Amino acid sequence: MPINFVPNDPLAGAGAPAMRQVSALANRPNNRAGFTFHSPQPQGLHQPGTPGFLFWQCRQGAIAAFKTWESYAGALPRWFSGRRLHLVQNAVAEFGETPQPNAFYDRSSFSFFEFTQGGKTTFSGESTDVVAHEIGHGLLDAIRPDLWDTPFLEASAFHESFGDCVALLTALADPQTRQAFRARVNSQNFLETTAEDLSDAIRRFKPNHNAAEPRMALNTLQWQLPSTLPATGGPGVLINEGHSFARIFTGCFYDLLRELIGNNPTDTVVQQKVSTAARLLIAGARNAPDSTRFFQTVGRAMALADQQLDPHNERRYDFRGALAATRARMGPGDVLLYAPGELRHVLAVYPPGGPARPLSRVAPADLSARRVLVLGDVMLDRYVRGEATRLSPEAPIPVLRPTAKWATLGGAARKFQRARAELKALEKTATPTNRRLGRGSRSAVASS
Ligand SMILES: [Zn+2]
Repeated sequence: MPINFVPNDPLAGAGAPAMRQVSALANRPNNRAGFTFHSPQPQGLHQPGTPGFLFWQCRQGAIAAFKTWESYAGALPRWFSGRRLHLVQNAVAEFGETPQPNAFYDRSSFSFFEFTQGGKTTFSGESTDVVAHEIGHGLLDAIRPDLWDTPFLEASAFHESFGDCVALLTALADPQTRQAFRARVNSQNFLETTAEDLSDAIRRFKPNHNAAEPRMALNTLQWQLPSTLPATGGPGVLINEGHSFARIFTGCFYDLLRELIGNNPTDTVVQQKVSTAARLLIAGARNAPDSTRFFQTVGRAMALADQQLDPHNERRYDFRGALAATRARMGPGDVLLYAPGELRHVLAVYPPGGPARPLSRVAPADLSARRVLVLGDVMLDRYVRGEATRLSPEAPIPVLRPTAKWATLGGAARKFQRARAELKALEKTATPTNRRLGRGSRSAVASS
């Protein structure tokens, strides 16, 4: 028996595929992660705003998100905390929770809410965007439980971004959605805009709240040190908060999708490229160690996975504009030297057939006829050497009596220094042909 289903979001707008009749997806197999349903409603063609619609819509969105994930990542036998998690389509009706414009995953449930303000009631469980986002949290938590309680803002922001990326991928798994999306990949569209309905409810609740407008994946937000950002800000302002900061990574992911898809794609191309992007994202999420600069770390893990997928591709990853200025000057095969701790923007750049690498691994011969670009902050590393014979009474750390202090060039300055030294050494030992190339390389060294 068919059900009514909204494939994207109730307020996705005129360009989005409208509510349509679909077959209800089958329940999750018993031997895989799945859901415990609450207050099941009779299957049928229910109208939005009714308990019947909310139950089947929320269930369909959750299972669709799961199926999408499994098509790229393989079967998931269990969630972090067990095989079945509660799918609570309306925690207000089900448990008497306070009405609120909200939705969450908390390791035991996926919970959605109703909220009435300004004469309108919003059900967060009616949005496939929102439901898929929460399922995304649960999926990431299943493969990376260490990210759940992470102290790093970027890692928790990645959790939010991952939810939005799962919402994008879930939408793109729907043929009608792809059809509507294909013509407007590079302009603002219903697909890259997430949770329109829920953000409208937040706007009615608190018009100046940061989340009072939808999160856009098509954005030009630039990475900044989170601690330099304000803690609060008006709708859409980049602030030091997970959902807001997440848009930077989601933006990078959408940029990657756009770059892969290209102009005027066929449906087959879109499906193939979405699959590539999804697999890279999942590999990045699986393999990136938890760290302060988690976005960049995931990006590097994605670049490595990309090379394993195709060692001959010349794809470059530009984390939000840091390399935009250099694009004109750098081509595939050129060498990028980076100061890993300092160059926070760069996702990864590498020559064909080799990963982005620090200078020490670049053989001199590789530098011939290549441009060499040093990117990163010029720093001064200060060193202190001394003796430690006792522990501090205040903390379990040794007390140091300094015997020597010195400073050296650090960060990108050190890379620059070393590049110059290596090129000079190359000049001394080079054959006439190589010498000319060596000089050419040296003249192209620049620092920024
Ligand atoms: Zn979230």
